[in-house]
Amino acid sequence: MSDKIPLAGVIGSPISHSKSPQLHRHWLKTLGLRGDYIPMDVSAQDLETVLRTLPKAGFVGVNITIPHKEAALEIADLVTDRATLIGAANTLIFRKDGQIHADNTDGYGFIENLKAGAPNWQPHVGPATVLGAGGAARAVIASLLDAGAPEILLTNRTRVRAEKLADDFGKKVSVVDWVQAGNILEDSALVANTTSLGMIGKPAMRIPLDGLRRDTLVTDLVYTPLKTDLLAAAEAAGCVTVDGLGMLLHQAVPAFERWFGHRPAVDSAARAAALR
Ligand code: NAP
Repeated sequence: MSDKIPLAGVIGSPISHSKSPQLHRHWLKTLGLRGDYIPMDVSAQDLETVLRTLPKAGFVGVNITIPHKEAALEIADLVTDRATLIGAANTLIFRKDGQIHADNTDGYGFIENLKAGAPNWQPHVGPATVLGAGGAARAVIASLLDAGAPEILLTNRTRVRAEKLADDFGKKVSVVDWVQAGNILEDSALVANTTSLGMIGKPAMRIPLDGLRRDTLVTDLVYTPLKTDLLAAAEAAGCVTVDGLGMLLHQAVPAFERWFGHRPAVDSAARAAALR
């Protein structure tokens, strides 16, 4: 057994808001494993140097967050198919041969969270509406199509960004104008907010929500607050709702397992640790 304590961490800028350190440290402690998980604020110009140096200091991998997800994919030597499809990396594994392996587990986390929070949800039953066309939307769309969603209605404040995404994913994704967003909710089996609207410190979600049907599953990637205005309105309309914290937890599972060799549990203790 090596004397080196295996280290992992998360790289972004800023990074102090990240909930990942307390989550991974909780799992290390619960599983009785040696290791640590460290938040690192790194500038774009230093990213590659830092990534090439960390393995020499005992790092087995890192998570990557805003604004470095696309750059990390470019730097990596090996890339999974799903990271290529999403066009961004959120997980890096530092291999023993010195190569950096990039993956993206955001879409996996999104789907696992829905499966856990809404066990009766069937991805193929009807159209999914995706609000937003940023990096998170890419992961959500890729994973929904992979899970069997028949159609995705995509709407974003900046329409051209949604059109670019729709072009990248093909015929099953169609773009709806942002001002029409309220009108497509009643046709949706799933509504997923991937914008930052409704997050503490960001503008409120102003889309009219009275079209929500009670058999629609509604999820919000925003998890501060846990119950966003969108989820509260959906609950009031009788919809099943799933909050965004579970996505954060589930996306972390494959990374932790690869770095530390044990699969951690997504349970109430892990949720509490992430919220601490
Ligand atoms: P991003 O690439 O910056 O995209 C931001 C999205 O929000 C874009 O669609 C943007 O529209 C939209 N937006 C921002 N301000 C808006 C406004 N005032 N009115 C209408 N739309 C607005 O960010 P991201 O990486 O996709 O992340 C999006 C959200 O998902 C963030 O809140 C992030 O914390 C959350 N997230 C959660 C998880 C999780 O595990 N739960 C994982 C990933 C991300 P424009 O294109 O018009 O600017």
